[in-house]
Amino acid sequence: MVRMDPASGVGYVELPTGWLAPDGTLHKEVTIREMTGRDEDMLASDSVPVVRRLNAVMAGCTLAVGDVNDRTTIEKAVLDMPSGDRMALLVGLRILSHGPMYDMLVTCDRCSNEGKATVNLEEFETEAPEDPSVRTFTETMPPGCKYKTVQWAVLTGHSDSLLEELREKVQDSDMTLHLLARLRKLDDKEVSFRSKGAIREVVEAVKDLRSRDYDFLRTKFAEREGGVDMSFEFRCPKCKKDLKGRVNVGQPGFFFPSVT
Ligand SMILES: [Zn+2]
Repeated sequence: MVRMDPASGVGYVELPTGWLAPDGTLHKEVTIREMTGRDEDMLASDSVPVVRRLNAVMAGCTLAVGDVNDRTTIEKAVLDMPSGDRMALLVGLRILSHGPMYDMLVTCDRCSNEGKATVNLEEFETEAPEDPSVRTFTETMPPGCKYKTVQWAVLTGHSDSLLEELREKVQDSDMTLHLLARLRKLDDKEVSFRSKGAIREVVEAVKDLRSRDYDFLRTKFAEREGGVDMSFEFRCPKCKKDLKGRVNVGQPGFFFPSVT
């Protein structure tokens, strides 16, 4: 996940997809520095929305994306990156700053026992997409779907701000919001999130989708997007049930191991 240079304290993160520069060059490696007290204060600052905090810390700790080291371009690159790349960057920052071992509390869904799971973030695997330069896809929907084709785009840092906005305006599950934020075209009709009315229109349009269409799209997202597999397995120490969980980088303990 992250290659470290102990002499300089600098780390190199290999992005699953990569940042596409405006000139079309794909940059797969990000050079990062350890987080400082100032970055941690930024992360802990409750007055700033969490996405803005993460963006600031990701951009601040990035020394270069490929061979690009201009500050303004780095800030833009962090937003342009696919969400899977941003995840890899955050995991890389965590490993470089606090090491790869991450402790968290896992509640057993059978006996309700709360146990401490320790995961090694170095062991998390990244998945590269088939063609990292393609960020927009058009799917031919299964027969019976209201739409013949659905065009969607890979989630990026820009989508994170959109998701935050959607979360405020649309009372729906995160799963639905993540689907909404990817949509670009339903048949030939462009999807717009520019106004409250436009958002309402999209929400109404996807309500006509059946679970089969949702499942189809989700399978395609998973197939085509690169990312980091954040899942882990854990055996309940009390009843021995095998549990599956996912590491959430938004949890306070992820960047502040002393809190847990
Ligand atoms: Zn249990």
